[in-house]
Amino acid sequence: MNASKPRRALVIGGSMSGLFAAILLRRAGWDADIYERVDVGLIGRGAGIVTHAELRTVLRAAGCDPSEDFGVEITMRRTLDRTGVLAGELVCPQTSTSWDRVFRMLREQCPDERYHIGKELQCIDDAGDRVVAHFADGTSAEGDLLVGADGFRSNVRADVLPAVKPVYAGYVGWRGLVDEDALPAPVHADVFEAMVFGLPPNEQFICYPVAGRDNDLRPGHRRCNFVWYRPAEESSELRQLLTDASGRFHALGIPPPLVRTEVIASLREASRTLLAPQLDAVVRLAPLPFLQPIFDVETPHMVVGRVAIVGDAAFLARPHVAAGVTKAAEDAMALANALRVHDDVAAALAAFQRERLPVNRRIMQRGRELGGYLQPHLLSPVALAAAERHHGPETVMSEIAVLDFLKDGRLSG
Ligand SMILES: Cc1cc2nc3c(=O)[nH]c(=O)nc-3n(C[C@H](O)[C@H](O)[C@H](O)COP(=O)(O)OP(=O)(O)OC[C@H]3O[C@@H](n4cnc5c(N)ncnc54)[C@H](O)[C@@H]3O)c2cc1C
Repeated sequence: MNASKPRRALVIGGSMSGLFAAILLRRAGWDADIYERVDVGLIGRGAGIVTHAELRTVLRAAGCDPSEDFGVEITMRRTLDRTGVLAGELVCPQTSTSWDRVFRMLREQCPDERYHIGKELQCIDDAGDRVVAHFADGTSAEGDLLVGADGFRSNVRADVLPAVKPVYAGYVGWRGLVDEDALPAPVHADVFEAMVFGLPPNEQFICYPVAGRDNDLRPGHRRCNFVWYRPAEESSELRQLLTDASGRFHALGIPPPLVRTEVIASLREASRTLLAPQLDAVVRLAPLPFLQPIFDVETPHMVVGRVAIVGDAAFLARPHVAAGVTKAAEDAMALANALRVHDDVAAALAAFQRERLPVNRRIMQRGRELGGYLQPHLLSPVALAAAERHHGPETVMSEIAVLDFLKDGRLSG
């Protein structure tokens, strides 16, 4: 690379993928600016994140130190049956952190003058070896490379690969957080400090401890994070869930405060009848449960001309693999490494795509396999029966939120 004249990358999206990409590109000798649509800080988003060793490796490469106060250490996995009795246990050491914690670590590595807020990408002009980003406020920016890190409803992807659309998977993830000190002692003893599963028919409940507010890791100040996957047929049930009290339908996702009280009441009723009493208590005590419809997004290409697409913008895998942030980090790392090694940008982009396409496809496929039994109205009876083999306590505890399948070349357990 010509050290006297740094090349310039325009990174669209200032969340996980965007921060990883911009920081690592700068470390590879590029000039990189982030353009984020939201005009306030992104702190406060999301909930718990299960991490993997691979994520720590990339965080270190980005100048962050994940060895101190990174999250809550979890050793055990447990499954509770409907009556609250232990149905299985497995040792599986892992760290759970929060979206905020990772965001703050990364944000500190990105100079303020390189992080532009209130910049919504509208369209791209890709002309040979230059690329121009046009923003909704009428401004534009020019660079040698544009990185689409703008999430699963990516405008960048819509511009360069318009045929790729998110596909609803047929179920939603209900999420919520409960303060540790709100859990009654017997519930705390059974569910806190572990990753705990509940497995009603065609459903999956999972909870695990995460830091409290402002990354508070002191015992008594942490929180219990749950995700409960439940089928919701698209045209009727999902529509109801995403409709607020004024009758407005939020096709792209309903803001948590607008979820109707009847919808929350029926979630709590289902929790009482379907989950172990300890897990029911977690759902009941969560002050503001919210839901996210689960989608698949799979791009045929991660590179089009001088545009590279990373993170959820390229591949939105189902959360059962818990690979979203790790995948975003590794996409960014592969891109920066390729641009460090190859002076020719087109050759670097081709190398990046060769490395990341197969891995991301395997993660997508794994997510579909693990979530198959949550799609009873979409799969044939034969496919559903096959998917059921991922639903037993031992299998769930050994397969959910682990990346071993990437190491041994297997796609199914
Ligand atoms: C239920 C659930 C549980 C999960 N659990 C885990 C887990 O345990 N572990 C894990 O690793 N991952 C998990 N994930 C996934 C993880 O949260 C995502 O994969 C990750 O946050 C994706 O980051 P991203 O930067 O690619 O996209 P996003 O976080 O979606 O960021 C995209 C950014 O681009 C901005 N943007 C969008 N359009 C434009 C535009 N036109 N112009 C400028 N900016 C724009 C947005 O405002 C946003 O800031 C989970 C997800 C779900 C739904």
